Amino acid sequence: MKLGVFIERDGVLNQARVERQHQVSPLMLEEFKINMGVAPLLKKLKAAGLTIIVTTNQPGISRGYLMRRELDRMHDLLRKSLPMIDDLLLCAHDDTDHCPCRKPNPGLFTEAAFKWRLKLDHSFVISDKWQDAEAARAVVATSLLINSPWIGTAHHDFVLPDFSAVADKILQLQAAAASVTA
Ligand SMILES: [Zn+2]
Repeated sequence: MKLGVFIERDGVLNQARVERQHQVSPLMLEEFKINMGVAPLLKKLKAAGLTIIVTTNQPGISRGYLMRRELDRMHDLLRKSLPMIDDLLLCAHDDTDHCPCRKPNPGLFTEAAFKWRLKLDHSFVISDKWQDAEAARAVVATSLLINSPWIGTAHHDFVLPDFSAVADKILQLQAAAASVTA
């Protein structure tokens, strides 16, 4: 069994505009700006043997203001720019669809775990939002939140200032776990 790192897309891997205290997902390829600073950090996580899975809620598809073709173009660019990404899983539904995959539901995590044979209770979740921490809690994964206005007050395992600190913490936790089982 392998371990995964589940990474939220908006606000972590790409920039997200903020409007009325909410993050707004890019709707066009031209607005899709990738945070290339994460590239060496993803490389380190990958080198530690972790499977890199991106997850994203994109209800704009269900609501009709985000075109699937445009989203596919953004994701092609993301995977080309950050080739350490092993997979990218998407929830295209809205709250009213009551799907199992819209975070804070853990459906995207369990789907990826099945596909990639990941041991979820030793995997990691990185985000700047409470929804991912809640989904992590549901599958007993370790959640590491990047401090932001969206981390909420529900359970999370760690809050750290930036992606670099999060990557260091994951490598540290993984090394500690490996020395316990050795
Ligand atoms: Zn869904």
